[in-house]
Amino acid sequence: MIRLGGWCARRPRGAAFPAGRRWRSGGPAGRGAGRALRVLVDMDGVLADFEGGFLRKFRARFPDQPFIALEDRRGFWLSEQYGLLQPGLSEKAISIWESENFFLDLEPLPGAVEAVKQMANLENTHVFICTSPIKMYKYCPYEKYAWVEKHFGPDFLDQIVLSTDKTVVSADLLIDDRPDITGAEPNPSWEHILFTACHNRHLQLPRPGRRLHSWADDWKAILDSKRPR
Ligand SMILES: [Mg+2]
Repeated sequence: MIRLGGWCARRPRGAAFPAGRRWRSGGPAGRGAGRALRVLVDMDGVLADFEGGFLRKFRARFPDQPFIALEDRRGFWLSEQYGLLQPGLSEKAISIWESENFFLDLEPLPGAVEAVKQMANLENTHVFICTSPIKMYKYCPYEKYAWVEKHFGPDFLDQIVLSTDKTVVSADLLIDDRPDITGAEPNPSWEHILFTACHNRHLQLPRPGRRLHSWADDWKAILDSKRPR
């Protein structure tokens, strides 16, 4: 076990520090410049296109059923809106993301992988992918790890935090598409940056709430706003 500036990981004794892993450099390289900025990045709806992947698979499996176009999505809980559309449709919707390969097959959102790799390479910056698995755990947790490995490489697997309660995870920022993030900790350490998604784009944020509209937006400025001056 090694410990780098509050961050720890298992590494074989005597193994060289791998090349190309500067995203861990908030440890040795970041020392002397204050504590590293810690950023939690949500997965579904922020890195992975959950809504697009759902709609594609729902229409393929239930071609005769009504569906909700992405521009008509309202509210975080997709299954609730489908349930309002037609009785029994909520269960059909749930069956989609409980199926094998649903999470693994999700496409990355535009620019997400490049932005987060770039973010993780910034000095004094620790990035974690913080994601809540669904309760039906047969496929989802495994596929979330496999997705990260597929798109970010095996080294990034150390940066995954699986938690159904993100309020108990400490960080400076949480970039997440869910508007209401509550849990056991009434005063989470992070500032929530709402990542714009089809289901939340119509919401008026209570002040001083901030949004990241997409990965083409200036995420670096948001990070810099949290760094000590
Ligand atoms: Mg999400």
